[in-house]
Amino acid sequence: MPIPKAELHLHIEGTLEPELAFALAARNGVTLPYADTEALRKAYLFEDLQSFLNLYYELMAVLRTERDFEDLANAYLARAAAQGVRHAEIFFDPQAHIARGVDMGTVVEGLWRALGDSGTNHGISTRLIMCFLRDESADSAMETLEAAKPYLHRITGIGLDSAEVGHPPVKFREVYEAAAALGLRRVAHAGEEGPPAYITEALDVLGVERVDHGLRCVEDAELVARLVRDRIPLTLCPLSNVRLRAVDVLAEHPLPAMLDAGLLCTVNSDDPAYFGGYVGDNFDAVRSALGLSEDRLRELARNSFVASFLEDDEELRARYLAEVEAYEFS
Ligand SMILES: [Zn+2]
Repeated sequence: MPIPKAELHLHIEGTLEPELAFALAARNGVTLPYADTEALRKAYLFEDLQSFLNLYYELMAVLRTERDFEDLANAYLARAAAQGVRHAEIFFDPQAHIARGVDMGTVVEGLWRALGDSGTNHGISTRLIMCFLRDESADSAMETLEAAKPYLHRITGIGLDSAEVGHPPVKFREVYEAAAALGLRRVAHAGEEGPPAYITEALDVLGVERVDHGLRCVEDAELVARLVRDRIPLTLCPLSNVRLRAVDVLAEHPLPAMLDAGLLCTVNSDDPAYFGGYVGDNFDAVRSALGLSEDRLRELARNSFVASFLEDDEELRARYLAEVEAYEFS
């Protein structure tokens, strides 16, 4: 059994495997421009961010009903459970669905049909984090928050994702303030392709409690010192970084140096159907490519629960942390 861990950076739309995409397309009468799952699997070997995003949005067309979102989430949870995930904080992108006529309620209630029973069915506790697309307008983000108001009992926090450069955190100051006033937790993608200054801005202007990616903090020693001092977690996604060329090869990933610096790093899968693996695969990959010791792997697993939004259930967090400490590597 893999080491118990939490997954904190996972886009549910990025878990759509070719087999499920074809099954949902058939169910909904959607025609995909690929001959079969094998041809689609080949399309997943995209070359850059834009071709990934094109495919990502194209395939979302198969997600139409509550049952589709339920099936998507259950497929992810089953795979995650097999890789040792005990707790998952799951991103979803409502704007991408609303734009094609699928409303907020269908998305949230559909996901909840799986998440509400995930403890019983998969042995995984879950939280839901609603992300805004940063290449859409600030007004659109605010409208999305408004549309989510009837469903806030299902939603733990907000995030910010999609194309980073040219869309600095400050653009979303108002919507983050409004979300904070509603009691929502706050995270944001920052410092993946964007500069370290975006990380600082996400902390100072948006009040984020956790930084998604945050990889480029290593370029700013003062920022690193601040992240260490304030125990701000980073949700790193090593296989994603290789596929989207944030690092050339996994062996050059700064994760070991970041851990040595005392940063609260976690390892996650981002969009696992597209980026070559789920979170356990990411653990295995960094272990072999970077030669991480068992102590380091245990630290990463421990960090994932420390960084999770389990303040509403500290007993559960303590139980997970005890499982990490008791784990024996084979
Ligand atoms: Zn992401």
